[in-house]
Amino acid sequence: MITVEGLELSFGSGKQYNKVLNEVAFSVGEGEAFGLVGESGSGKSTVLRCLAGLYHHWDGRMSIAGQPLGKKLDRERCRLMQMVFQDPYGSLHPRHTVDTALSEPLKIHRMDDIDARVGEMLEKVGLNDSFRFRYPHQMSGGQRQRVAIARALILEPRILLLDEPTSALDVSVQAEILNLLQKLRALEGLTYIMVTHDLGVVAHLCDRVAVMQQGRIVDTLGSKVLSEGGATHPYTRSLVDAT
Ligand code: ATP
Ligand code: MG
Repeated sequence: MITVEGLELSFGSGKQYNKVLNEVAFSVGEGEAFGLVGESGSGKSTVLRCLAGLYHHWDGRMSIAGQPLGKKLDRERCRLMQMVFQDPYGSLHPRHTVDTALSEPLKIHRMDDIDARVGEMLEKVGLNDSFRFRYPHQMSGGQRQRVAIARALILEPRILLLDEPTSALDVSVQAEILNLLQKLRALEGLTYIMVTHDLGVVAHLCDRVAVMQQGRIVDTLGSKVLSEGGATHPYTRSLVDAT
C-alpha cells in the first residue's frame, strides 16, 4: 500500500551539510503494522515527516496505493494519513478543548453529524463524554495521548504514522495506549508505520520492522523473528543485545 524508494534528505549546506536520509526504501502492505527502529538520530522521525508531508525538500519516490505522493501536504493526504507524535501537545492546541480539537478537522472537511462523530470517537479511545470540555492541561499524559489519537482518527484515515507514541508515558500507561492502538487497528483495518526505541513495543504491535542506522535501512525482518532471537544482521543483533 505504501512504497518508499530512494528517499534522500539533507539539511544545511557547506560545513553545515548533513545528509540525514540515504537511499531509504521499504514497502508496507495494507493493514500491516510496520516498525522503524534504530539509534537516536538515525532518521526515523525524518522518514515519518517526509511521508506526512511536513518536509518538502526530499528526493526519491513515495506512493500510496499506486498514487505518487507530492511534496505538499494536501487535503487528500490528510484524509488518508495522519501522524501521532511522542508528545501529544504536538497535535493538541493548549487553549482548545477536546471538543474543539476533534470538531475542527470535521468542520474543515465539511463533514456532517459533527457532534455524534466526536462522541463516537471519544468512546472508541476510551474517554467518556465528560472529557469534551477539558483542556489538554486538565488531563493526564495517557488521556492526552488518547485525545491525540482520537484527533488523528477523526477523519477516518487509512494510515497512522506513529512517532514513539508511548515513550513519554509511564510504563503502565504505555501498555494501555499500546492495547488501544492494537484494538483500533483491528477495528478500523488501519495500516501503521510506527517509530520506537523499544523492541518490546515492536514485538507487541508490529508485523515487520526495519532497522535504521545513520540514515539508511540496514535490515528488514519479521518482528517475530526479532523477538525470537533470530536476527542475523550484526547491527540488529547489537540492538537486541543492548536490551
Ligand atoms: P530519535 O530516536 O532521537 O528521535 P531519530 O531517528 O528520530 O532520533 P531524526 O529526528 O529523524 O532522528 O533526525 C535524524 C538526523 O537529522 C539527526 O542527526 C538530526 O540532528 C537531523 N535533523 C533533524 N531535523 C533537522 C533539521 N530541521 N535541521 C537540521 N538537522 C536536522
Ligand atoms: Mg525521532
